[in-house]
This record gives sequence, C-alpha cells and structure tokens, in this order.
Amino acid sequence: MYSDVSLHIDGAWVKGATGRTIPVLNPATEEQIGTVAHADKADLDRALAAADKGFKAWRKVSAFDRYKLMRKAADLLRSRADDIAKLMTAENGKPLVEAKGETLLGADIIDWMAEEGRRAYGRIVPGRMDGVAQLVIKEPVGPVAAFTPWNFPINQVVRKASAAIATGNSIIVKGPEETPAACAELVRAFVDAGLPAGVINLVYGVPAEISEYLIPHPIIRKITFTGSTAVGKQLAALAGRHMKRATMELGGHAPAIVFDDADVDAAVKILSANKYRNAGQVCVSPTRFLVQEGVYKKFVEGFVAAAKAVKVGDGMDPATRMGPLAHARRIDVMESFVADAIAKGAKIETGGKRVANKGYFFEPTVMTNVSPDAKIMNEEPFGPLAPIVPFKDFDSVVEEANRLPYGLAAYAYTKSVKTATAIGNAIESGMVSINHHGLALPEVPFGGVKDSGYGSEGGMEAIEPYLVTKFVTQVGL
Ligand code: NAD
Repeated sequence: MYSDVSLHIDGAWVKGATGRTIPVLNPATEEQIGTVAHADKADLDRALAAADKGFKAWRKVSAFDRYKLMRKAADLLRSRADDIAKLMTAENGKPLVEAKGETLLGADIIDWMAEEGRRAYGRIVPGRMDGVAQLVIKEPVGPVAAFTPWNFPINQVVRKASAAIATGNSIIVKGPEETPAACAELVRAFVDAGLPAGVINLVYGVPAEISEYLIPHPIIRKITFTGSTAVGKQLAALAGRHMKRATMELGGHAPAIVFDDADVDAAVKILSANKYRNAGQVCVSPTRFLVQEGVYKKFVEGFVAAAKAVKVGDGMDPATRMGPLAHARRIDVMESFVADAIAKGAKIETGGKRVANKGYFFEPTVMTNVSPDAKIMNEEPFGPLAPIVPFKDFDSVVEEANRLPYGLAAYAYTKSVKTATAIGNAIESGMVSINHHGLALPEVPFGGVKDSGYGSEGGMEAIEPYLVTKFVTQVGL
C-alpha cells in the first residue's frame, strides 16, 4: 500500500528534476518500503516561482472562500484517516491508533485555522482631527518556507500550512524525508479540495541545502521550523541575517513535578502514558520526573510497573502501545544516554536496552539515582527514557525545573490549589499542565520560551505570525 512519494510543485505531483530518490524504511522491520523524490536546485526554483504566483492569486481570495475550501480539505483528511494512518505507521512506527488520532487532530487544526482566518481583523484608530481615518490593516506576510520533522508527519506540517493558507499566504513545505507519505497525504487533501496551483508546494531532499537556499531567497518572507534547538538556532540566525520573520518550535526537557499531596496513581497513569507515547519522540514529552520525598517510593514503584506493562511492537498490531523509534540514529542516542547515566551512578529500574536486533525498538526505561550531571538530566533524550529524582521542597524543585535553558512544556501534580497556582507562576515554560495532560489542542497556544524557541502554533496566537500590519491614514478631500 506504500507507494513512492513525489514532490508537489505548482499544482502537479512530480519527480525531482534529476530523478534522484531517497529510500524510505519501515522502522519496525528496517525494510525499504518505498522512496521519496529528491528536490534539487531546479525544483526549488520552480517551487519558489510557483509560491510567488500562488501567493499573488490566493491573497485576493476572500477569507470566507479560503475558509470554505479549508473546511473541505479537513473533511477529506478525516474521510481518509484510516488509510493515512497505515502509511504513517509504516514509515514512522507509531501505533495505528496514535497515527489515526494525529490525522484526525490535523483535520481539527485545519478547521480551527480556517475559522480564525475569518477573524484576522484590522481596526480603525480614531483620528486627532475631524475627517482623518486611521486604518490598521492585516495583510498576509507572503510566501512561507516551512521545515518539519518526522515525529508527527502531519501535525508538524498542518499547524504551519493551515495558518499560512488561512491568512492568504502560499507555502513551500520541506517535509520529513524519513516519513514523507503521510505529509504528502495532507498536501493532497488541500489539493483535492481545490487549492489553486502554487499555494502549497512540497519538497524533500537534503534539509541543510534546502534551508540554505530558501531562507535567504527574496521570494520567501517567513520561515517556520520545528526541530532541535541546535538546528533552530542556525536557521533563526540565517533568517535574521536576511530580515525574515521566523517561528521556532524547538526542543524541550519538560519537568514533571509530583508533590507529596498529589494523586500519585493518577500522576503515574497520565505521565507514564505520555512518556511512552510516540516512543518519547515528542517535544512536550515529560522528561525530568521530579518527585517529592514523601511519595517518591510509591511513584517509582508505580511508574516502573507502568513501564513494564507497555506492550512494545509493530505499530500495525492493535495490541501495540509503543512502536519502534523512528530511525536508526535514535537507537545510538538512547544507548549513549543510558551508558552515560550508568557511568554517573544511575540505577536502571527497568529497560535500558534495545529490543531484539531487528527494528529500532528500545525498551521503556526508568532510571533512579540519576546524577544532575548525567546527560539525560541536561539534554533532550527524545526517546522512552524516564529519570526519576526526589526533591525536598517547593523552592528547590522550582530551581531544578528552571535550571535548563529549555522552556517548552512543564507538568505538575498536587491537590493544593495554592501549590498549583504557585507552580504555574514559578515555572519558566511556554506551557504548564497541572493535574492532567492538556496540551496541543488546536484552540490553545502551543510554543516555548528560552532555548525552546518563539512563536505559537496554536490558538489565536497562531495566526498573527502569518500577517503583517499596515497602517493607512487618509483624509477625505
Ligand atoms: P536533526 O537535528 O538532524 O533534525 C531534526 C529535524 O530538523 C529534522 O526534521 C531534520 O530534517 C531537520 N533539519 C536538520 N538540519 C536542518 C537544516 N540545516 N535545515 C533545515 N532542517 C534541518 O536531528 P534528528 O536526528 O532528526 O532528530 C533528533 C533531535 O531533533 C531530537 O533529539 C530532538 O531534539 C529534535 N527534534 C525535535 C522535534 C520537535 O518536535 N521539536 C521533532 C523532531 C526532532
């Protein structure tokens, strides 16, 4: 069912100009399941020209007509969710239920952005003199270059593409080479809904070559990237040198804080489910488990039992709760995090190893006695590793939570309203979820602070970065 994936340029599905392709592997089997077309400079030039043309036409379409077309694309995506989920699981490894959920959420995100696009109002500022009209007008920013990763092949693209399209922009998406088919199906939903040629373009290739060419290009007016902080800093610097607006959704290292008065069973259940979701390859994954001394033992026991109960396997099997990591290099990274933690004194409570030797499976892992110097406590693991460390009091846990340069997501569990309010205020993070996992819905802001980036990809905040403000003042003659 997996077929070779093409580029989409100027309304047509095409091979790259040179005919080059990149193999696509199933991470559960390590077998090649298809290929994706590789864009070279000539393809990028065509995509740029198409985006320029598409923007000039699309900006003239009314917000209401854009909305109607987007709602149609959302419905198409929904109606195709079962088939798209199979493609996503085959190329990314996540369980089918997660892949389908991501596809359906993608449709909800399109709906939300379509609706918000109709509310991208300007305003009239009263003049100081009679007869002066002062208009604040919101205009589309212009052709967008988007760079999206493999962990959520639809979700990472749909937040960018639908905000751009809803506001009258065109977009060139540099999709994930590891997981190209689900991303292409998202683009297909827009195309089949009737989006004019050139408004959405899709390319794959060598990420650094594409970003270095597109970001400085005069046709591109806005950059948006999801990925690691290291790459984000490079791309933001390049965007800055060329005075391009940028949204950066980067790495995180979410503290998950459990106070003595928490409902420990609920904390274990919700945090473990979210730790091992998508095999931990989630930017808002709970990562540093900070548990107050009074409930530490109970939390560790519960979390270890939950980790052991996670059924690891091929995402196509309905019984699977955690699939493989998305590509081979993640296995090496997990092994290096575990080896480093052990060398610095950590105890592996469960997991810690690759599963079998075929497929990129890694055991759901829990570690205790973890040194603050261990790599796992300082760098984003982006995998199924859970270090659990005790803390004494409120001030010390806030200090630990805010110690790292990251600030994307944070979690806290407490039955005290006073503590909940205090921790919500004290944490330096773009998102804080208390006593539940409530992030990433289309209607709420999604984004980080500090090294986790800037800009928001959810809520009404997601629309503004795709608009520029023009001020017009006039006097009737
Ligand atoms: P990576 O840093 O090589 O790549 C991360 C993403 O950035 C990929 O999609 C890649 O194609 C893209 N990328 C890399 N260099 C680029 C460039 N010069 N121009 C444009 N795009 C570029 O790492 P990886 O092995 O693919 O993933 C590992 C790390 O990436 C993780 O540890 C995690 O920190 C981060 N990551 C974050 C997210 C997220 O949702 N924030 C998603 C995927 C990966």
